[in-house]
Amino acid sequence: MKVDYLTPQTSQTKSTRPLEAQNLSSSNCQPWPGLIETYRSYLPVNETTPIITLLEGNTPLIPVPYISQQIGRGVKVLVKYDGLNPTGSFKDRGMTMAISKASENGAKAVICASTGNTSAAAAAYARRGNMRAFVIIPDGYVALGKLAQALLYGAEVIAVEGNFDDALTIVREMAENYPVTLVNSINPYRLEGQKTAAFEVVDVLGNAPDWLCIPVGNAGNISAYWMGFCQYHTLGKCDRLPKMMGFQAAGAAPFISGQPIPSPETLATAIRIGNPANWDKAWGVKEASLGEFNAVTDTEILEAYRLLASQEGIFCEPASAASVAGLLKVKDQVPSEATVVCVLTGNGLKDPDCAINHSNNQVKSGIKPELSVVAKAMGF
Ligand SMILES: *Cc1c(COP(=O)(O)O)cnc(C)c1O
Repeated sequence: MKVDYLTPQTSQTKSTRPLEAQNLSSSNCQPWPGLIETYRSYLPVNETTPIITLLEGNTPLIPVPYISQQIGRGVKVLVKYDGLNPTGSFKDRGMTMAISKASENGAKAVICASTGNTSAAAAAYARRGNMRAFVIIPDGYVALGKLAQALLYGAEVIAVEGNFDDALTIVREMAENYPVTLVNSINPYRLEGQKTAAFEVVDVLGNAPDWLCIPVGNAGNISAYWMGFCQYHTLGKCDRLPKMMGFQAAGAAPFISGQPIPSPETLATAIRIGNPANWDKAWGVKEASLGEFNAVTDTEILEAYRLLASQEGIFCEPASAASVAGLLKVKDQVPSEATVVCVLTGNGLKDPDCAINHSNNQVKSGIKPELSVVAKAMGF
């Protein structure tokens, strides 16, 4: 049927059904209401909690056949692509909870130390909840995309001459002495929100994976995933628990050396952390899950980063690629036929400098806009 877009519809052709019914009931598709509404009964919220949400969560669990093939023996690898959250990282999961609870408690301002993604998420959710957002960052070590976000969302950004650990020390003191709520992952509501990623993995797989590989910085996320798996296990939603495999960057690997690193160094700035705030929790997770911590070098991280993009079509940020780099490093330990989930914590667009500086690929420039010249450049 030809549709006339120019003539206003008559009452006969116009649907008389209410708009809402047209959009919703006519299909099986229910809109995702955000992770707090979806998992409300598993979270510390009540009817009076104002829910500050950008409809975060429900991120895809994507099979990665090339990486599975690299391991072989029937191992199936999937990535939990949390870079598709509203501000581009898993931090949104924790922030919807932390900011909703801060709002419930009447907070007017929040503060965080950040290697970038926490500040982007804190800024977005705090502004949406009508609060001021103060962000303390290590000067010169925040990826461009993340800084752009914090600024545009309207955070008040303060760069200190120190590293992340110095910034965290300051914000802890600020929160003790001034009317600002701390929203780093030592805020317990952050981990409550982040544990929903484990729920989503189980909801899709029908069970927990055999292994969960995850980058470790402050070690909040590994602790949160474990909380989620354990809670679902207790409720009978899965009948096993994964081995938790945490990966740190070799230049920022306090869990491997067994002590804090005073000057952590890695190009994976999101995990450039020398003294993880959730140290004891994460060690408890490793022990309870019979898991391991391992280090991956920046070279290995970059290899996995390029491989994910060029072989699987998935662009994550360097820190996220540590999970895949780690899996490939210890691939001989993976049991045959195992299901492995690697967490991709953030979006590749966060750090365009890294992509351009470390791609093996180059723009062919200086080409005249003529068919024969362009064809030649294309190799025809
Ligand atoms: C915050 C962050 C991490 C580290 O998570 P922790 O909870 O601090 O261990 C890893 N990757 C990205 C992209 C992050 O933003």
